Amino acid sequence: MSFITISEVGPRDGLQSISRVMPLEAKKAWIAAEAACGVPEIEVGSFVPPGLLPQMADTAELVAFARTLPGLNVVALVPNAKGAARAIEAGVHGMSAPFSMSETHSIRNVRRDHARMLQEIREIADQASAAGVHFAVGLSTAFGCTIEGAVPESTVVRLAVASLEAGAKELSLSDTTGYADPAQVKRLVRAVRAEVGDALTTLHLHNTRGLGLANALAGLEEGITTLDASLGGLGGCPYAPGASGNLVTEDLVLMLNAMGLKTGIDLERLLSVRKILAEALPDEPLYGFTPDAGVMLDYHERIAR
Ligand code: ZN
Repeated sequence: MSFITISEVGPRDGLQSISRVMPLEAKKAWIAAEAACGVPEIEVGSFVPPGLLPQMADTAELVAFARTLPGLNVVALVPNAKGAARAIEAGVHGMSAPFSMSETHSIRNVRRDHARMLQEIREIADQASAAGVHFAVGLSTAFGCTIEGAVPESTVVRLAVASLEAGAKELSLSDTTGYADPAQVKRLVRAVRAEVGDALTTLHLHNTRGLGLANALAGLEEGITTLDASLGGLGGCPYAPGASGNLVTEDLVLMLNAMGLKTGIDLERLLSVRKILAEALPDEPLYGFTPDAGVMLDYHERIAR
């Protein structure tokens, strides 16, 4: 009876992909409603430079609010040491920094090569340990890059080890581009875990090509224990109309609960949380199959097994 942690990343990854700003009160209602369903961890926003992403300007207020919700692990994304300082000040339980495995992608996006990024990770890690805040590194574009194409597995393994040496406590493999396939997920998770063991806990998957759930299952079979997902697959994919952004939380919870794995999440209650998104973001498509089909007739027998 293993417990799989679902980390809701919609308030960060979902919202940052859309231009419309969701009102603070709606974000609070969304976060509170998911926490009440048993979602154990929520990435509430990103501490990017103020002004760069208006959608994320209220992250500090959301952290303060989310900290009042009992039992919830409150995490935020930090792009650099400055963002980490703001996250710590706001009171996060944990923070994660993205580290692009494609050096071209890293230079184009944040104007930092791998050596410079590792220095940044070291600075964030020092702040985190001084403040007693958990710090994870998300190895992004780990399964491929829209500029470089394939990213060598040896590069990912080497930079995973280097991230831990720089002070990260936990690692995630991110399929930023939706390039991953299940065989690749198995290979890469196995290769990284062979070097870093249980420090690799998490997969951050995008459903760009419809392989999200298959990739999640492949990761679970290799020892992954945390999966990122976003309610309604919010954010979509700009290159693939009809494709959700992240894994759809509702479908992922259905799969895991029905398989007899434990998520601690009340799925039927979670389905009703979509109303908050639909009302606050009326023009945004929401994805997922379970919300339309409902649960199987014998769903409750399955989860009781
Ligand atoms: Zn993402």
